Parts: sequence; C-alpha cells; structure tokens
Amino acid sequence: MSTAHYDTNGNVAVIRLDNPPVNGLSLGLRQGIVDGIKKAEQDSAIEAIVITGSDRAFSGGADITEFGTPRVMQEPILTTAIHYVETAKKPVIAAISGNCMGGGLELALGCNYRVSKPDATLALPEVKLGILPGAGGTQRLPRVIGVEQALNMIVSGAVVPAKKFEGTPLLDEIIEGDLMEGALAFARKVVAEKMPLKKVRDLKVKHPNPEGFFMFARNTIGAMAKNYPAPLKCLEAVEAAATKPFDEGMKVERDGIKYLMQTPESAALRHAFFAERKTSKISDVPSDTPTRDINKVGVIGAGTMGTGISINFLNAGIPVTIVEMKQEGLDRGVEAIRKVYEGQVKKGRMTEDKAKAKMDLLTPSLSYDDLKDADLVIEAVFEEMGVKEQVFKTLDETCKPGAILASNTSTLDVNKIASFTKRPEDVIGLHFFSPANIMKLLEVVRGDKTAKDVLATAMKLAKTIRKTAVVSGVCDGFIGNRMINQYSREALTMLEEGASVQQIDKAIEKFGFAMGPLRMADLAGGDIGWAIRKRLYAENPGMKKNLIADRLCEMGRYGQKTGSGFYKYEPGNRKALHDPEVDKVVDECRAEMGITPRKISNQEIVQRCVYALVNEGARLLEEGIAQRASDIDMVYLTGYGFPVFRGGPMHYAEQVGLANVVRDMEPFAENPNLQPGFWEPAPLLVKCAQEGKGFDQ
Ligand code: NAD
Repeated sequence: MSTAHYDTNGNVAVIRLDNPPVNGLSLGLRQGIVDGIKKAEQDSAIEAIVITGSDRAFSGGADITEFGTPRVMQEPILTTAIHYVETAKKPVIAAISGNCMGGGLELALGCNYRVSKPDATLALPEVKLGILPGAGGTQRLPRVIGVEQALNMIVSGAVVPAKKFEGTPLLDEIIEGDLMEGALAFARKVVAEKMPLKKVRDLKVKHPNPEGFFMFARNTIGAMAKNYPAPLKCLEAVEAAATKPFDEGMKVERDGIKYLMQTPESAALRHAFFAERKTSKISDVPSDTPTRDINKVGVIGAGTMGTGISINFLNAGIPVTIVEMKQEGLDRGVEAIRKVYEGQVKKGRMTEDKAKAKMDLLTPSLSYDDLKDADLVIEAVFEEMGVKEQVFKTLDETCKPGAILASNTSTLDVNKIASFTKRPEDVIGLHFFSPANIMKLLEVVRGDKTAKDVLATAMKLAKTIRKTAVVSGVCDGFIGNRMINQYSREALTMLEEGASVQQIDKAIEKFGFAMGPLRMADLAGGDIGWAIRKRLYAENPGMKKNLIADRLCEMGRYGQKTGSGFYKYEPGNRKALHDPEVDKVVDECRAEMGITPRKISNQEIVQRCVYALVNEGARLLEEGIAQRASDIDMVYLTGYGFPVFRGGPMHYAEQVGLANVVRDMEPFAENPNLQPGFWEPAPLLVKCAQEGKGFDQ
C-alpha cells in the first residue's frame, strides 16, 4: 500500500514518500504526511522534519490511478496536507530528487525550506491536462521565482532542471553529494541557527509593472491558446498572486480549477492522456510476455519511408543496415538521412559529433546478405504485392531464426505477406507515417499468425523509438486509412453536391483540424488517393466514382508536387491558392452527373466528415480490428491532425452524445448521391446510443 514512512535520525524526523513508481500523491501518501507531521510535533525530541521521496521522484504529482475515484476528494486532500506542512510548529524541509512535478512541487512549496539534487526536474504540468495547479502552485511559485518565470512554467508545463533555480528562494541549497546526508545537515543548521519558519505564502510577489506585463501576456497567450481555456485561467491565477493577498489568490485558483475541470477541452486532454497509456495493453498478451532483443535493425528500401524509418533507430542508438536495389538509390537515401542530421546541427539541436555518431551507426548495402544478423528487418519497398513477395521470400531465406520480419505496407494484406515466408509467426506490420522520423503514430498490424512475443517486442520497441503504437488487425487501410477513406469520400461528395473546395477546407479547419481534407489531399499527392480509388472501383463494380477528384487527376493535377490539384501553387510555395480552373471542372462534372448544386452548411460539412470517421470507427471496433475506441482516438490525434482539444473522433462523438450522432446521421442516408448503405449506422454505434453507454464501457 502506498504510504509515507516515518523515521527519526537524532533530532530530525524523516517522512519518506513511498508510492512507486513516481510517488503519486495518493490518499495513503497524503494521510502519511499529515500523520508524520503530527507525530513529529508531538515528539519533544524532534526539532525539524525532512520530507523526501525516492531517487526517481520526490513526487510526480497526483496519483493517476485515483482519477475518477472518490479517493481524489477524500480528506486529507492535497491542500489539507500542505496546510499541515506549512503550519507545522517545527521547520519542514523538502529534500528533492528525481521528478518534482505538479502536486509534488506544490507540496515542496508548502515546506519552509527546500534542498535538491542538481539534476532533479521541476514542473507544474497541469495545463497539459487542460487544468491548472490546484494546490497553491499558481500562488506560491510566483512568490519564489517571480511572475514572468512562474507564468512561463505554468502556462507551458515545461520541465526545468533544479540547477536553474539555484540562488532563488525556490531552492535553499543544491546538494551535490548524498541527498539525505545533505538534507539532515541542512535541517540541523536550521535548528542550530534558529532559522525562522519561513512560509512562501508570506513572500511578496515583486514586479516593476504588473499591469503592463499581464496585459502583454494576456494578448500573447490568448493568441497562442486558441481553443484552450486553461492557459488564460492560469494567467488569471498568477495575476491574482501578484495583485491580491494570498488567500484571495487561492480562491481565484480554486475557482479556476473548478471551471476548467468542467470544460470539454480538459475532458478531451485527460481522455488523451489515459488513452495513450492504454494503447500498450493488449488483452491476450500479458504485460510480462517475454520480448526479443532488438540490437540491430535492417531496413529495405531507401525511399521516403525507409530513410525516415531508419532515422528513428539511429536516434535511439540502434545500428541500421539499409538495403537498396541500386547504388544510385542507396546514395540518395543515405544523403537524405545525412541532410536530416545536418539540419539538426544547423538548428543547434545536435552537435556535429553526435550527428556523426548517428551516421556511423548506418551501414548502406546492396546485398540482403548484410541482413543475416539483423534482429528486425522492416521492408519499405514499392507498394506492390509482387515486389513484397520477392522481398519476403528473400528475407525468409536470409534472416536468422527468430528475426522479426516487418512490412511498412499501407494497404496490402499482411497475412498474405506473411504467407510468403515459412515463419508467418515472425511477420508483423509496422505502419509508420510520413515523415516517419517525425510522426508519432505507429500502427502495429497484428497478422492472424503473428506470435505474441513478436507483438510484445514491437510495442516495447515503439517506446524505445518514442512512438505511440496502436495495435490494428488486418484490413484494408488498417485503422487510420480505412477511416480516412470514408472521410475523404464525404468531402469529395459534398464538392459534387454544391460545397466549394474552400468552404469544405475552411469548415474542417474551423473545427480544429490542422488542414482541411482537400488541402491535405494536395499535400499527400492526389495520385495516392486516386490509386486507392481506382483499386476500390475495380474491386467493387458499381461503386460510385468521385468524378471531380478523378477528373483533376486525369488532368495531371496531383497537388503540390505538380503545382496544382484542388488548388494551384506558385513554384516553391506551399500556399494553396484558389484556382478558377478547378471551379470550371467542378461545374462541368456536376452538369455531367446531373447534379443541381445546393447550399451546404458548414455544420453539414463537419458532421458528414467527422461522423463518417465515427461510423467507420465503430465498425472497426465491431470487427475487432481496433481493440478499443480510445486506441482509434490515439490514431487520429497522433497521425491525422484531429484536434487534440476534441479528444479524437470517438471521444468527440461521445461528448456530442451517441444518440444525437445517430439521429444527425439519419438524413444523410437519404442522399441519392451516396453509395446506398454508406450512412447505415454501425450496429455497435446504435447499440451504445440506445443503452446510453460509451464505446469502451
Ligand atoms: P518510395 O518509392 O519512396 O521508396 C521505395 C524504395 O524501395 C525505392 O527507393 C526503391 O528503389 C526501393 N526498392 C524497391 N524494391 C526494392 C527491393 N526489392 N529491394 C530493395 N529496395 C527496393 O516509396 P515510399 O513512399 O517510401 O513507400 C514505401 C512503402 O511504405 C510502401 O509500401 C508504402 O505503401 C508504404 N508507406 C508509404 C507512406 C508514404 O506516405 N509515402 C506512408 C506509410 C507507408
């Protein structure tokens, strides 16, 4: 059970927080702190109290396992525990090592003195969950480091090394050697020198021009934090610290957190926080499943994806052998990787030595023989089954037993790819997103025969290369692209029905997507969507075609790379410009299709695009392709630019109310321009709506 241990060392009591891994401030810990303070006060032999944690963490803040349970609000709540600490009759010293975050830092600020290891890290990261520090952090931090720095830390949630606070009232001493020895010595000095029971709350916040500063800050933060209410509430609270007495400031902070806890933005951010932690849990693959060691990686294909994929492993210090068909292609790929590192050096993000060390981990090769000792090989060659077949047959003959053979295919059947080998249990899909060295998302595609330890290894490896890995079953497009195809199809159909290119993109961008669907298509390359549509037309005879999109592609308008698509582009410029030529094509196609254009509202655009995602997402859940709705949300938040403040398509639908979503979808089914059955609500969606449940309940 989580608790705080009480011990004595001569005239000093030591309260040691013990709730691994990061000393989350659980009820047990809060109670332990209060009990420890009381006990120390009652013991006449005790003259000072040290509160400390573990090497890894003084405290990482709230205990996330208590979120959503009554224990969060059960006394002593954190403010109560801090009150006991701050009003103790004997000096209390926080001895800080490791993480000191959120409630952990607020607890330390409630102590009379603070000593720290130089490499401890301090932060008030609550803003990242759409809330603010609610146990006095907004009031005490400005009192010790000034309003500007405090506001910066609180609004950004940035993690700052303790050493940076040397010489400020935040840290009374940096302890280079043993923390506990240093803390005990400091406590004895406090006693010997009869140092006062300093309280941070009694300090005055100093600023030469608070009014001017807060006006400036309000404008800057307001502009940056569009769609997010928390940063401005943080500012209000810090402003109160600078302009009001402590207790009044505490009230502003309390009102702020109460308000923020109710906002949909905070609900979305908290959802995303937990969703991210759930992705690695696979129901039939226990967390203690043994994994295979991955010390050497092979990548086949040094094109767009192969180069990006390689960089992930080089960054993690894992040697990569990259194999191409011809010297020219290999040289181009190696050059592309070198350029990325040169860019890092130029931007000051990496030293030249480090960049060189990364490049030294790369072995370019034209021979599969060089993959003999690779623990994992990722194929990123052309998207053709014939090419994949040849590659996987060769890998099967070349690679050592136990090596994991992965494909980066976006659309092809991973089971079929696995069948080209005599070891389908070692085959898995690792679907990276472009640019692969930057995008967070990794879809881990589990084939019918993929071994559990291969899956567990892939999930572990994803963490090593800092990806958010989401497991997907095998289907056309996996989770992300299968859903996006429906979304794009709705956008293209609305273009045929009467919405303009600009209206569609603006409506979706106003909803919060970084880029509307047509600008996105121009960026990705119209030919990619066209190839998928052509394949689908062939596989589904009678399927309705997207005439406008197809016509633009027939004209060679593939988007940015050809200087024109749904928009036109000036050479060397990515700004999407309105193109009257497209309006003409749109008019012609509508006439050919016999469609009289109608006015389409922005609301309809958003609903049809987003609910198309939701409905397909529900089907993925029914089919067991996605494990849980929150996984689908993570795919969309990390791979498709879905607005984070809306929490992902499935969370958004739950916020709207699934019954409302089903009802809003009904009129869409009447649309004669759409494939019959497209808007039939997924049975799971209807079931959850009827039962008043969320997808994952
Ligand atoms: P690309 O055309 O840029 O690169 C493919 C490379 O593979 C070329 O350099 C080619 O010379 C090389 N190659 C082909 N056959 C080979 C062989 N037998 N042995 C060694 N090298 C060979 O293509 P890409 O965009 O990097 O796509 C690669 C794979 O990644 C495809 O399966 C694609 O569907 C998938 N993918 C692409 C994206 C994307 O946005 N481009 C995103 C996710 C997945």
